[in-house]
Amino acid sequence: MSVAREELRRGVREVCARFPNEYWRKLDAERRYPEEFVGALGEAGYLAALIPKEYGGMGLDLSAACAILEEVNRSGANAGPAHAQMYTMGTLLRHGSERQKREYLPKIASGELRLQAFAVTEPEAGTDTTSIRTTARRDDDHYVVRGRKIYISRVAQSDLMILLARTTPLEEVEKRTEGLSVFLVDLRDADGLTVKPRRVMMNNATNELLFEDVRVPLENLIGEEGEGFRYVLDGMNAERVLIAAECVGDGRFFIDRATARAKEREVFGRPIGKNQGVQFPLARAYASVEAASLMVEKAASLFEKGAPCGAEANLAKLLAAEASWEAANVAVQTFGGYGFDAEYDVERKFRETRLYQVAPISTNLILSYVAEHVLGLPRSF
Ligand SMILES: Cc1cc2nc3c(=O)[nH]c(=O)nc-3n(C[C@H](O)[C@H](O)[C@H](O)COP(=O)(O)OP(=O)(O)OC[C@H]3O[C@@H](n4cnc5c(N)ncnc54)[C@H](O)[C@@H]3O)c2cc1C
Repeated sequence: MSVAREELRRGVREVCARFPNEYWRKLDAERRYPEEFVGALGEAGYLAALIPKEYGGMGLDLSAACAILEEVNRSGANAGPAHAQMYTMGTLLRHGSERQKREYLPKIASGELRLQAFAVTEPEAGTDTTSIRTTARRDDDHYVVRGRKIYISRVAQSDLMILLARTTPLEEVEKRTEGLSVFLVDLRDADGLTVKPRRVMMNNATNELLFEDVRVPLENLIGEEGEGFRYVLDGMNAERVLIAAECVGDGRFFIDRATARAKEREVFGRPIGKNQGVQFPLARAYASVEAASLMVEKAASLFEKGAPCGAEANLAKLLAAEASWEAANVAVQTFGGYGFDAEYDVERKFRETRLYQVAPISTNLILSYVAEHVLGLPRSF
């Protein structure tokens, strides 16, 4: 590992050390957003890791951003509340106009503005994104948005939100992927938007949104009208690799904790870790996490070269989410009853890491991608 990368990891660990596991436990119990932690990560510049230097960011590559998120999760913290800014701003960076980038990116980099919400999922459409029913109708110098979204995270903690909406009705487009557009919604000035929090399994600030004629200025359209689906897909490889890095961090957290526990916990007059029945699942989970980590590195390095990386990004996400879940289960088993006790943090992280088999993309959809696009099997839906 390069010296610079090790320095970066050390810096992240230092920030995380200021927020010990008690902090996360308390937030989890109160279902409160980690304002202080996200603020500290932002202040240190890490949330602007992927923003180019000319716009005030750190101008780092995807592997560096992966190292940041992995370290956060390995420490027992949860990068989930903070990670979105890293990849959400990518849509603006890649497809926004120069004016939009100059206006927003430096403020996002400095922390003056938060762009942490990305509204795609809808109650009816679910995984079938091209079936979304939220519409944006052109009205003079505005678009008028109507529709519903579900499980949209960090809306109350954002100033800006990226929104996917249909600008041309499904019946009028040749291909389903056409006629969708991406907007930058200013949440500080969004009359007609109702935000209703949803309580979920882990401490994740997620919401149901109702748009009743929300007016979005024309100038907040990102890129070209009708091309939004392509823009969203474009950002998905980076998002998958970053989330996979978090899963690797989770996996390492579980293995670190469970290994330490197996060495110190004595039952029948000897450490439980002396039993191969305890050792082998840990060794197997370790192997899975290490293998997933290699795929994350491969995907990130292809992405950085601008090479096609759809297969690797999907595989990294699949393998890392499965490896972290395997490690989570092994950690609970190793801790026994204490694995269910909030004071030991394993149960909290167990709930947190479970999300990544479902969001931002579920395992089945990744398998379907691999089957169709890598193995050339017939399209199933
Ligand atoms: C805590 C949390 C935070 C979230 N944050 C956001 C956010 O910020 N922004 C956002 O836009 N979304 C967000 N989501 C939504 C998330 O991306 C979706 O829940 C996820 O994509 C799955 O969609 P769905 O829930 O509608 O499941 P469904 O589409 O109803 O699918 C249910 C199950 O069926 C499977 N399935 C469906 N179709 C097929 C098929 N053809 N073949 C095989 N299996 C299939 C799926 O894989 C899944 O396992 C969040 C969700 C959660 C729980």
